[in-house]
Amino acid sequence: MGILIERDKGLQRQSEEQFGLECPYCGIYSHMTPQSVPDFDQLCKDQPKHVGLVYQCDACQAPVFLRFATKQYSGDAVELYRNFIELERPKERFAFSYLPKRTEILFREALSCYSHNNFNAFASMCRRAANSSFAAIGERGKMRAFDHVMAAQDLAEIDDNSFQPIKKVLFETGEESEVPILNHAQAGILLEVLKDMFYQCFVRRGKLTRAIKVRRLFVRDGNSELRPSA
Ligand SMILES: [Zn+2]
Repeated sequence: MGILIERDKGLQRQSEEQFGLECPYCGIYSHMTPQSVPDFDQLCKDQPKHVGLVYQCDACQAPVFLRFATKQYSGDAVELYRNFIELERPKERFAFSYLPKRTEILFREALSCYSHNNFNAFASMCRRAANSSFAAIGERGKMRAFDHVMAAQDLAEIDDNSFQPIKKVLFETGEESEVPILNHAQAGILLEVLKDMFYQCFVRRGKLTRAIKVRRLFVRDGNSELRPSA
């Protein structure tokens, strides 16, 4: 059953279930409340093929824009198809500041491709982001990165066949045309594996070094305060 915009009652869903989505702003899977619905008379006059509805995220109150295709117009109601397009997709997050500058730029664009469902553009950008990170950490760093990725495969219990394209994207050097074609599910695995590899190679090291530096500072300052009474 579709969704109706009725002449007198406005937006009606023909089911009792609550409408929820992952909010593109707060990232929470939240209930969405209709906030702005097109004017009924105007719709009937123009009869557009698509209409835009604005929902409000119940968690953060941000406006969420959705586009629906219209199914049919009748005297008292406009019926919409249930499927819709999210005009803003939730953004993938990462602690980008720990990455080398060039890797950060490329990985941000990779994640943007993923958010927009362009999975092969995503794969190509993942290869560029991974290559730029290997240039920063050198051959030994690249070998460590490879070990991290193999450990991730093991931890997540992914079989060799499914994992082969992911390894090819990240570690094979060669023509762009040889980057494997990925589907949504494979791109999802690549996303998590590359995030984990960058976490292990850069974020973990950066956080640990920073935390130890702060500890040392505390110890040094504490000692200098103690000195007069010692
Ligand atoms: Zn929200």
